[in-house]
Amino acid sequence: MEKGDGLMALSCPECESEVSPPEPVRQHEVLECPDCRAELEVIAVEPVVLALAPEIEEDWGE
Ligand SMILES: [Zn+2]
Repeated sequence: MEKGDGLMALSCPECESEVSPPEPVRQHEVLECPDCRAELEVIAVEPVVLALAPEIEEDWGE
């Protein structure tokens, strides 16, 4: 396989649905799985690795 320059398809670690990261993807960015709505954190970018974001009950203020 060659290293592509485009988006790679990622799998949601929760439900294994395909998740497309935004471009450019940044480390520590949090994505939402379109299928199960899990929050996925980008823990690495080369290659992109997603992990379930910890559920933090936190008020960010409104
Ligand atoms: Zn999912």
